[in-house]
Amino acid sequence: NRMIQPKKNIDKSRKLRHVCYDIRGPVLEKANTLIAAGHDILKLNIGNPAPFGLYAETRLKQALIDQLDAAQGYGESKGLFAARQAIHAHNMNHGFKNTSVDDIIIGNGVSELIVMAMQALLDDGDEMLIPMPDYPLWTAATHLAGGLARHYLCDEHNDWRPNLADIESKISKKTKGILVINPNNPTGSVYDKDTLVAITELARKHNLIIFADEIYDKILYDGATHLSIASLQDDLTVITFNGLSKSYRLAGFRAGWLTISGDKARATDYIVGLNMLASMRLCANMQAQFVIAEALNHDHSIYQLTAPGNRLHEQRNVAYERLNQIPGITCTKPRGAIYLFAQLDTQRFNIQNDEQLMLDLVTQQKLLLVQGTAFNWHLPDHFRLVFLPSVPVLHDAMDRLTDFLKDYRQ
Ligand code: PLP
Repeated sequence: NRMIQPKKNIDKSRKLRHVCYDIRGPVLEKANTLIAAGHDILKLNIGNPAPFGLYAETRLKQALIDQLDAAQGYGESKGLFAARQAIHAHNMNHGFKNTSVDDIIIGNGVSELIVMAMQALLDDGDEMLIPMPDYPLWTAATHLAGGLARHYLCDEHNDWRPNLADIESKISKKTKGILVINPNNPTGSVYDKDTLVAITELARKHNLIIFADEIYDKILYDGATHLSIASLQDDLTVITFNGLSKSYRLAGFRAGWLTISGDKARATDYIVGLNMLASMRLCANMQAQFVIAEALNHDHSIYQLTAPGNRLHEQRNVAYERLNQIPGITCTKPRGAIYLFAQLDTQRFNIQNDEQLMLDLVTQQKLLLVQGTAFNWHLPDHFRLVFLPSVPVLHDAMDRLTDFLKDYRQ
């Protein structure tokens, strides 16, 4: 006679209580419901180049095909040696200080490494300084690891540069690290040397590890130059993140890496932790690792897309100009990456809830954007648009948005 237990709900773990990743949240679910009902949705919501016809170079795909035999077995936890050599050479070209092939860990995209970097670092209640707006995986990974994200303001009136006074005001005894996303998602800001040096000075003064997410380092417009924060000082510990998803248009291959540089001595124990987490997942997917050297050792074709007259440059211009023509919208011109973070006049539209705004937009106009609060922005007055679609599609999207806002009131 077995006792039949009453059924209990299966709840998610308490670790997930403060974890949120709204880029793939309720608004996307609504869009998917509409798609299932037979509607076409214009998706300007995710920085995924290939579906917009921005394909990788043939030789990169060929590198994967050619190595399928070699990729059958597990590899080293830190990653394929030849790939790490190519990453190291790339790092040297960008002036990274005090780093070697051994200081690189390859992951299944930068995403996996962000989660590992926070899991290895944070104890419950430890704090991370994260930009606001942010790429929300950083906040989610911080909270998953038991930490607390303290969001520092990036200032729209100063080309979205980090507000240094705000950063300093948010530092406490529990602050472990500071994240810098440059070029920035979602703002498109590319930071100048003075800003980066000022951040290193704050890091030195308060004993912070610097996390540099530089996945858009080659997607630059109008002659903007990108400076790796790892090139500025050798007495600070810097962990830099990069990968194949954006500049090489291989988001689906899931290949990213992190590099530890600068003062590694004081981070010895943290590095042991990172290596332990890398070992626990055995290795990153091997096929994509064979593409890394092929990508980094040759010319970067992304520059042909970002130059004046070429696709990404033109799309950036059209999106920027059309957005600013819509009454009640203003935005700053991005100098890097593939996004615009536009401001809405909340009084004009009486917007209280920007997720509702995006739900209404996708329902009425079949246009999918992402609300600013999904990027941990503090007010319901922004949204992010991806300018990967071709110019005619962008015009279509802008027509729909203009129509939608004409008499929108919440
Ligand atoms: N970091 C930033 C700033 C991003 O925008 C993204 C993807 O959009 C990632 C990391 C994740 O990239 P991956 O495809 O390498 O996981």
